[in-house]
Amino acid sequence: SGRVGAHYQGEMTLSITSCFDSGNIRVLTLTDSGADLEIVTDHQSDFYQWFHFRVAGAAGRPITLRIVNCAGSAYPLGWPGYRARVSEDRETWTLAETTYADDVLTIRHTPAGNALWIAYFAPYSMERHYDLVARMAALPGVRQRELARTLDGRPLDCLTLGDGPKPVWLYARQHPGESMAEWWMEGALEKLTDPADATARLLREKATFHIVPNMNPDGSARGHLRTNAAGVNLNREWHAPTAERSPEVLAVRNAMDETGVAFAIDVHGDEAIAANFVAGFEGIPSFDPAKAALYARFREALAARTPDFQLEKGYVVAAAGQANLSMSTNQLAERFGAVSMTLEMPFKDHDDNADPVHGWSPARCKTLAHACLDNLAAMIDAL
Ligand code: ZN
Repeated sequence: SGRVGAHYQGEMTLSITSCFDSGNIRVLTLTDSGADLEIVTDHQSDFYQWFHFRVAGAAGRPITLRIVNCAGSAYPLGWPGYRARVSEDRETWTLAETTYADDVLTIRHTPAGNALWIAYFAPYSMERHYDLVARMAALPGVRQRELARTLDGRPLDCLTLGDGPKPVWLYARQHPGESMAEWWMEGALEKLTDPADATARLLREKATFHIVPNMNPDGSARGHLRTNAAGVNLNREWHAPTAERSPEVLAVRNAMDETGVAFAIDVHGDEAIAANFVAGFEGIPSFDPAKAALYARFREALAARTPDFQLEKGYVVAAAGQANLSMSTNQLAERFGAVSMTLEMPFKDHDDNADPVHGWSPARCKTLAHACLDNLAAMIDAL
């Protein structure tokens, strides 16, 4: 075909691109042994922290990649103690040697093969999302519907399963760079649709699950950290979503108005804290101690159930009456009397049960989802 494909010793040149689904990087300088890089801001926003790119041309050679604009990122405290994920088969993602000093994140790695993929966390592509929705929609008892179109024209998918009276909503990836949230969703859906899982059968009898695996497909495809195609943080829109700014939230909240919400988990990732934790709805105007006790019961039982959850590390709890009702967890608790929570998983690792090879990983997101559902099953009658 006339293409010169051979690489000759001494003439290797690195090639770096992010021109694919959820890609994000800007190349400042490139040598035959590394590059200086910048993460690109979300469109019409100042947020940035998610990166995902491919390096080619380094087979068997040590390379050094420096991300030099970390100081201005959304969560500078996310970088100390963090390690980048690398993969050559795009299935298994492992921790790369990573250091953070003088506001620069330095990643050193020697790829075996020619093409190396590097990301802030194991990516969850839109193609994998559509595969998940199609696989689940084909199973008996699962109803799939499109709640809305996004500003870029993508479908907003919702899967419904179960026939019970308790409306349960699980939704993820309002912040698209938090790809661990959709790995959690894949685990939740696989468990809930497993015909051999007795807990899942009980949940499907007692509850109806409404599941939005990805609330922000535009931001996901665009390689954003935190916002949609209009640069809007969807988890600050729940008090007053609009078709122009936040059609994703408007569609989901309208669907919730039709079903009500007894229990909800909003699934996220946290940049700085090296642990799994939940945040609740303590500061809402109509604070109900009985609902708060159910929330406390959920988190305490989950900590007892799995070493991949803990109670000590997390966010500062809002004072009475100080809840931010633009955030979904508070809005759902106030609007529906729901027992609602924000689940945060780490970009770093769950330090209480660390994995030195993978860090916090897709497989562990999925097993944490299983534990959350077993935990819900044990208290579903109390909701
Ligand atoms: Zn988030």
